[in-house]
Amino acid sequence: MTAETARPEATKEQTKPQATQQAKPAEEKQANCLACNKPIKKLKRYYRNGKFYCNKKCWRKATLKAKEEKK
Ligand SMILES: [Zn+2]
Repeated sequence: MTAETARPEATKEQTKPQATQQAKPAEEKQANCLACNKPIKKLKRYYRNGKFYCNKKCWRKATLKAKEEKK
């Protein structure tokens, strides 16, 4: 048995320098309210605990919901 088996010519593959184009990772922008899932407009947003809501009401709603889910 010959140790040298037919080498696949795939070794020809050119080692291309990987494109250094840093594809920006799609920023996960929170666009919707966590409570009502409505798109949040820049001007009208309520920011709490790193999350956006449309207003305080929605924030409360979302927090209550989160609490319930924790149970
Ligand atoms: Zn909302």
